[in-house]
Amino acid sequence: MTLAFGSTIGILGGGQLARMLAMAAAKLGFQTIIFDPDANAPARQVASDHVIANYTDEAALAAFAARCDVVTYEFENVPVTAAKFMNALTPVRPGPQALEAAQDRLREKKFLNEAGIETAPFMAVNSAEDLSAAIASFDGYGVLKTRRMGYDGKGQRVLKNTDPAKTNRIYAQFNSVPMILEGFVAFEREISVIAARGLNGEIAVFDPAENAHREGILYTSTVPSNASSETMAQAHKAAQAILEALEYVGVIGVEFFVMANGGLIANEIAPRVHNSGHWTEAACAVSQFEQHIRAITGLPLGNPVRHSNCVMENLIGDEIGRMEVLCAESNVVLHHYGKLDVRAGRKMGHFTRLSKLTA
Ligand code: AMP
Repeated sequence: MTLAFGSTIGILGGGQLARMLAMAAAKLGFQTIIFDPDANAPARQVASDHVIANYTDEAALAAFAARCDVVTYEFENVPVTAAKFMNALTPVRPGPQALEAAQDRLREKKFLNEAGIETAPFMAVNSAEDLSAAIASFDGYGVLKTRRMGYDGKGQRVLKNTDPAKTNRIYAQFNSVPMILEGFVAFEREISVIAARGLNGEIAVFDPAENAHREGILYTSTVPSNASSETMAQAHKAAQAILEALEYVGVIGVEFFVMANGGLIANEIAPRVHNSGHWTEAACAVSQFEQHIRAITGLPLGNPVRHSNCVMENLIGDEIGRMEVLCAESNVVLHHYGKLDVRAGRKMGHFTRLSKLTA
């Protein structure tokens, strides 16, 4: 059922993604309430209200759910128990099954393979012995990742020709948490697809972006990507299969490695709006943020076709100081996240430079 305009959307998490979701919701006439333990959460500046509480506080979650017509989230590490608890009180979209699939890298890879989508080879690592065996099985070259809570390249390490005698120390450096070792993928480029599925099952997919990283953090997203049209069609199809397998409602981000032969390997799914989709705010009639709000409120999805080529660049740390100069440029769409402290490595804003549409 479509929510009436003026209904209230609850958002778990109050960072820049929630901020941009709240702005898109306001544009469509919805109220938003942010749930975030941080009293300075950037989204609070633009939302209708802010509940300051922990994600484990069931009384606060229940009171929040009672005020919301639908609840969504801006990050995938919302405890599944909290999402399930709330889903029993008011609809949580995307559903808790999407969080479950995305929160744990082992589960995520198994889910992708079951949906017929290729991933890097992987092995579960629960001990130093597992790690030695996994390194040997990937010919000494792999990426060790914590199963949970990794982001922006944190919680992972590339291992190359690692002496098996050192695995005790490496495993202990990660506090002996459950991990996976992935075989190293010698990819040619990285692309991502932002796609949406509506309450009635309709699907809309934005064009893939080509992503470049600096120190593990997304630096630029360029659209169109340099991948072939066959590869892009394959990415589109994989995103659609994932949305359907999860009976998903909302926007999802899917990251892929593109191999030299054009083949695709899925790396990660993010059950939320995604940094590599910020360009849609500038180059499409309906942004990923509005698309997500439309999906979770039961409205028809917007047209995902872009009207321009573009490059989105993140403003990290003191790069936010470039805002004024960027303002003087034509064809640049700016976004400042309103964060109070500038810190090295912190995403402070982004801009998208538009150019003429090519095929
Ligand atoms: P992730 O946290 O899984 O998104 O990984 C962060 C970055 O590390 C990716 O964007 C890749 O550039 C690189 N990476 C991750 N997994 C692999 C892999 N199996 N092989 C090669 N590079 C990888």
